Amino acid sequence: MTAQIIDGKALAEELRQGFKARVEALTAKGHKPGLVVILVGADPASEVYVRNKVNGCLAIGMHSEKVTYDATVDQATVLDKIAELNADPNIHGILVQLPLPKHFDEEKVLEAIAADKDVDGFHAENVGALAQGNPRFIPCTPYGVMKMFEKGNVDLTGKEAVVIGRSNIVGKPMALLLINAGATVTVCNSRTQDLKFHTRRADILVAAVGKPKFVTGDMVKPGAVVIDVGINRLPDGKLCGDVDYADCLEVAGQITPVPGGVGPMTITMLLANTIEAAERKAALAD
Ligand code: NAP
Repeated sequence: MTAQIIDGKALAEELRQGFKARVEALTAKGHKPGLVVILVGADPASEVYVRNKVNGCLAIGMHSEKVTYDATVDQATVLDKIAELNADPNIHGILVQLPLPKHFDEEKVLEAIAADKDVDGFHAENVGALAQGNPRFIPCTPYGVMKMFEKGNVDLTGKEAVVIGRSNIVGKPMALLLINAGATVTVCNSRTQDLKFHTRRADILVAAVGKPKFVTGDMVKPGAVVIDVGINRLPDGKLCGDVDYADCLEVAGQITPVPGGVGPMTITMLLANTIEAAERKAALAD
């Protein structure tokens, strides 16, 4: 059996086209959605991510700008900027690109963003709302994965779901979303005993490990839906997921490729969160 491929690139494009009308409607009412991305330092990968985020907004008619600081900037300067943006009525979303330099207290910076502008969904208030099953902003990568399930007509209710990885950015919020959707969820980490025992009984397997080709075909239940969140750079410069795609393609029922799978969905859901923030604000103003 060859798995059906869930095409994240095509879905991302379809969703972004659909966002344009919402952006136009908001702009006409004086609530043009606006996102500010704060970048501290000059990490080349972060610079690419930030550029893609800003350009993604501009391409669908939103307002977006980046604020950059030298890596040596002090935390107070960045916190002052966040306070200014929190008070700016034209800005609906604020994102601080991670990782921050070592002299920053990352948690303190993320908590400084107003919860109703926290389009990354990392503020404790938004994490709590998600845990309670009443999410306001869903972290973009797992939000994108949920959209892929929707597109692939994957019914999650009563399914065995296994998430490999327990990070705050991917693994944990992914697990919460799957719990909220009615799946029976197991979250694995680097200390998990007999990982294969868990993965082989998964109807839904999400890999967010950060290790190239970590999930091999023998770890996958025949017919399972395999979601590859990983983005790893191989020595030859090529991108590779956490899943051994060629190996799992013959076992899985549905699978996401890398590149062209979860990756394009992440920025798309950042746009979605910013538009949702602007829509909420517009509704309050009406
Ligand atoms: P992370 O913070 O490094 O977390 C990795 C997780 O994998 C940890 O919980 C770790 O367990 C677990 N792990 C490591 N080795 C393991 C093993 N042998 N068996 C089971 N679990 C193991 O990474 P992340 O931020 O979640 O990102 C994961 C991957 O997704 C990376 O490749 C990253 O580049 C990619 N990513 C992609 C997107 C996107 O847009 N597609 C967005 C974010 C991240 P411990 O907690 O025990 O250490």
